[in-house]
Amino acid sequence: MTNKTLQLDDALYEYMLKTSLREPEVLQQLREETAQHGGARMQIAPEQGQFMAMLVRLLGAKKILEFGTFTGYSSTVMALAMAEGGQLITCDVNEKDTAIARRYWETAGVAEKISLRLGPALETASQLVDGGEAGTFDLVFIDADKRNYRNYYEKALVLLRAGGLVILDNVLWSGQVAQTGDVDARTAALQKLNTFLHTDSRVELSMLPVADGLTLALKK
Ligand code: CA
Repeated sequence: MTNKTLQLDDALYEYMLKTSLREPEVLQQLREETAQHGGARMQIAPEQGQFMAMLVRLLGAKKILEFGTFTGYSSTVMALAMAEGGQLITCDVNEKDTAIARRYWETAGVAEKISLRLGPALETASQLVDGGEAGTFDLVFIDADKRNYRNYYEKALVLLRAGGLVILDNVLWSGQVAQTGDVDARTAALQKLNTFLHTDSRVELSMLPVADGLTLALKK
């Protein structure tokens, strides 16, 4: 027994999935297809998807914004958990990856709930603010280019209602955030953001060692 977060070896990780993962077939297929993709590591882990679906249900989220669509695992898993009439806006710049996402939204029967905005995500977020949608989102998932995380986070806080949740992915960055001295730009950006979030009094905070590290920030 330990009160420290366990390091999962392969056997324990497999056990965890075997005894808890409830992954719909469409998401299994999407994972298999994305595994052939050069950027497969950008896909969220399946247990992380299941956890995020749980958060969607707990919040009763009806309006979700996502920064970083990739091949659509996170948008599909969240849209499946969203009640009828829910709306998910997802932002990406890559037409090829998001074409895969679109296909799986159709297969999963969630295409009507999802609106893809191709283009720089910060611009899309600004358009939403200008369009009067500040304070209307229940959940924002940030999983795009790491150097813009802080900018995405600030937009998220504007767009969320009080009690809305920001989820930030990859905050432990394969462990590289614990390095000291010279680090690459993306690691430095994440280090700076993590340090900033630690004392940001606008949110309630929890950092979880799920997959590559997940921060939950609940807007006060
Ligand atoms: Ca990610």
